Amino acid sequence: MSKDCNTVWENCLAFIKDNLPDTHVFETWFKPLQPLKLDKDILTLKVPSMFFYEWIEDNYIDLLRASIRKELGENARLLYSVVMDTGIGDKSTRSVIPSTDKSATQNRPTSIPISSSPMREMLNPFVIPGLRKVKVNSQLNENYSFENFVEGSCNQLARSAGYAVAQNPGKTAFNPLFIHGAVGLGKTHLVHAIGLETKKRFPEKTVLYISAEQFFQQFVDSTKSNNRNDFLQFYQMMIDVLIIDDIQFFANKQGTQEIFFQIFNGLHSANKQLIITSDKSPADLSGLEQRVISRLKWGLSADLQMPDAPTRVEIIKRKLYKDGITMPEEVIEYLAYNVSTSVRELEGALISLLAHSSMSKKEITLDLARQMIDKFVKSNTREISIEYIQKVVCDYFNIPINIMLSKTRKGDVVQARHISMFLSRKHTQSSLAVIGSKCGNKDHATVLHACKSVQNSYDTDKKFRADLDAIEKKINE
Ligand code: ADP
Ligand code: MG
Repeated sequence: MSKDCNTVWENCLAFIKDNLPDTHVFETWFKPLQPLKLDKDILTLKVPSMFFYEWIEDNYIDLLRASIRKELGENARLLYSVVMDTGIGDKSTRSVIPSTDKSATQNRPTSIPISSSPMREMLNPFVIPGLRKVKVNSQLNENYSFENFVEGSCNQLARSAGYAVAQNPGKTAFNPLFIHGAVGLGKTHLVHAIGLETKKRFPEKTVLYISAEQFFQQFVDSTKSNNRNDFLQFYQMMIDVLIIDDIQFFANKQGTQEIFFQIFNGLHSANKQLIITSDKSPADLSGLEQRVISRLKWGLSADLQMPDAPTRVEIIKRKLYKDGITMPEEVIEYLAYNVSTSVRELEGALISLLAHSSMSKKEITLDLARQMIDKFVKSNTREISIEYIQKVVCDYFNIPINIMLSKTRKGDVVQARHISMFLSRKHTQSSLAVIGSKCGNKDHATVLHACKSVQNSYDTDKKFRADLDAIEKKINE
């Protein structure tokens, strides 16, 4: 008795449906397939797009194979016929086999970063399982690794959540992982590190880093060239870990938000990982639709702060070490304590200093650093920071900064702590509460008391006055 392809496929579908955990998968991936013909034990199925075919073959081939063998016996074979969207509204159907031929890529009308392939002839995925894993260029920068990312309390949560995500993409509660912080604090670096680590642990996973701006551009291009579906399917089906940088760029771009929303939902429900950065927290993002913002809050939102001075010292040292450059400790500290706006500016100051020294053939000294920083920092409106004051005070009395910040009540340490508070009140705009929190976690009353006691000693004790004047002079240098 010869079977017709519709009956065979209906039976296959029943079997597949029975063996899938949820009907959503069935509706999405199997319903759209259509039986075209049955030639002995070869069943041909029509697949809506290349991406569809990729997805099915990657995820459901075992189930598909089992269903067809059950119907047609051990020698059953499957042929896909993929509907080709040529981008000019002309859809043609072809039997396909993907090619690794690079030159073919250039014909692709969209700027989606894949090295995929228009197809030739035909494919029997049972015979050549997993042939052609379409390669996606991850766009990751090797320099932005975890090894090169200095840890500190400023980035602890974001870093450790990111690391956890890389160990288990899509399977932690941190989905999406949303990282926010002001410009130059390391968002881009951190998300590259997560991507690189994921690829290291799971080479078979497809990771894609893309800036929101690039994503927007691709989307606009795909709409123009009628490839919107390709665009959507590329993101929904090809990517295991999607990193979108600077999502604030989507503000007031309705179409892009709409497609992002769809992609987000598709990936999230398939347990794929999303990592998103922004210069604002989800609550402060303006110009984004509420439903998009609510998705961004689903997972974990972690912020990056400006690193404290010791972490900044470490960042400079790490960079110098990587480039094989040495620099006097005092110069490193000077830079770290004086540039407190962003890590990017800190790097800028370091690079200027190195460039200056190599061009003028001058050694890198504290003096040279001072000249440079003055020029550099002036244009960034330099402010004396509490940390810098603490550093000068501690250097003056030769007390390690961590001791001063500890709970110790030793006389000379207490004095240094009080002087730091006094000078912070005098030279910074910070409130008593902030000064207290940065000087060993004291409350504002303690700071007030310290300031009074310093003023009192200054008025009555000659040696103390000389010390304080000398420290103040150094701070104002
Ligand atoms: P953002 O994306 O937040 O604007 P970037 O990731 O571009 O910031 O970081 C700016 C520069 O600072 C980069 O060169 C980056 O390598 C460096 N940087 C930021 N944070 C760290 C860190 N914790 N350790 C090492 N380098 C860092
Ligand atoms: Mg960035």
